Amino acid sequence: MAGLRKVEYIMSQRGTPQILLDEYLYNRNRERQSSTHWRCVIKTCTGRCTTNDDILRNQTEHNHPPYMVFNWVDDDARFPLPLWNHHETEGPRTNNSLEGFHCRLNQSLPHSHPNIFWFMEVIRRIEHAERSKLVQVNFGAAPPSRKRVYREIDNQIIRLKDHLRLGQKTPVQFLDAVGHLLKLA
Ligand SMILES: [Zn+2]
Repeated sequence: MAGLRKVEYIMSQRGTPQILLDEYLYNRNRERQSSTHWRCVIKTCTGRCTTNDDILRNQTEHNHPPYMVFNWVDDDARFPLPLWNHHETEGPRTNNSLEGFHCRLNQSLPHSHPNIFWFMEVIRRIEHAERSKLVQVNFGAAPPSRKRVYREIDNQIIRLKDHLRLGQKTPVQFLDAVGHLLKLA
């Protein structure tokens, strides 16, 4: 039947059900008979909706822009653009190196709750090793090289940024190309 909209559920980080509807995110408020009532995740917003057997029954207005815009894009977004935008960044685009460091740190400890002296000794050794790497770089040694495949991706991104800056690509074409390159699409 026309006009019936099926809602899709997602799981919040706390393991509670949520729905994302027209880019507004809702928490489950209460269930009454066969209806589920949802409220906007923004505490000061009166946006509500009701579902019945996964079908949207009604929906009220919000007092703020949609979730993505409100959180990430607006001039006064909760997470301002300079905080998360890495358009100008060259080099690592993930925190994989941090994860790797934590993994190696864990492996160098005898078990998951070592005593403080063990831990201090390991930290001291890491600091010593890092310090000598820094000294070598300061004396002109080459920094550790990245794999060729990553260097090539970096170069392609730099060229794509040039295309964007020179107006040879629209922002959407640029994003398509970068997404393809990073296998996001
Ligand atoms: Zn709202």
